[in-house]
Amino acid sequence: MGEFELIRQYFQPLASNASNDQLVLGPGDDCAIQRVPPGRDLVFSVDTLVEGVHFPPHYAPSHLGWRALAVAVSDLAAMGAEPVCFTLALSLPEADSDWLAGFAEGLSRASQAFGITLAGGDTTRGPLTITIQVHGTVKAGQALLRSGAREGDRVCVTGPMGNAGAALDYLEDPEPGALKRALLASYHGPQPQLKLGASLAGKASAAIDISDGLLADLQHILEASGVGAELDVASIPMSDELRQLQGVRALDLALTAGDDYQLCLTIAPETLAALPAPVREQLTVIGRIVPEPGLTLTGAPAGYQTQGYDHFGRSD
Ligand code: ADP
Ligand code: MG
Repeated sequence: MGEFELIRQYFQPLASNASNDQLVLGPGDDCAIQRVPPGRDLVFSVDTLVEGVHFPPHYAPSHLGWRALAVAVSDLAAMGAEPVCFTLALSLPEADSDWLAGFAEGLSRASQAFGITLAGGDTTRGPLTITIQVHGTVKAGQALLRSGAREGDRVCVTGPMGNAGAALDYLEDPEPGALKRALLASYHGPQPQLKLGASLAGKASAAIDISDGLLADLQHILEASGVGAELDVASIPMSDELRQLQGVRALDLALTAGDDYQLCLTIAPETLAALPAPVREQLTVIGRIVPEPGLTLTGAPAGYQTQGYDHFGRSD
């Protein structure tokens, strides 16, 4: 199968997945064309996934298709942007039609779920590598940056932490039970918080998506904003499945494991109080911003020490 036949068969069909009047020209020409409406900023980001580095060898192609687009789109969510289109640079060791069909199916499901259209790409032979560039737009000047956190802001997260990190241990399990399957679903099918991110554009003071772990990613906000934070670890949301399967290790996963793609945001208390209830109810307050740099954890069980993260002060 030649390069053009491969594109025509597996990827061209995705170009009509989500209709978006900002995508003027999709795949097939030398470039795609996006028209940015007046009063909006173009927001874009690129992510590369390498087999054996960012996903396990022989990982199910349909999960990979979903994950590759979800992790890229999650960066748009973290900026408060609305998705428009993406390009796909695919490096493949061989044109395996079963693999391509599975990958395109997962990618297609994700593109429909997130409302983002395939606009073009590049296809080459080489070690399995997937690069996705996502484009979105946000009302001019309203994008959520990492640098806006201020003293007194509440630190919030959008959902349970640690599920996907725990699932890494179960990827090879031939017969995972119901609890493990629930956590595996978080790893295989991350749900970028697009609606919530967009509804907080211009309202939250800072945001980041949690790809590397809550503490590590919050630290990026703190450094960019020149502030510190106090976290009450007892309020960090964790799923029942995580607590049941991991016991005392659950909190450590929630604090330090990546791959969940929830958002961590900072919001001034009066802005938080004024949010519409359906938005506010999706946020869990886990701490607050303080002027002194550094991250302090309170409410940890006696003797608790996090394994995967070591630069924070403890207040108890
Ligand atoms: P060029 O040589 O001008 O870079 P290519 O031969 O790489 O063009 O690509 C031809 C067309 O096919 C372009 O419009 C490109 O966007 C599209 N394309 C290539 N690979 C993919 C892919 N994996 N998915 C979607 N479109 C693709
Ligand atoms: Mg090319």
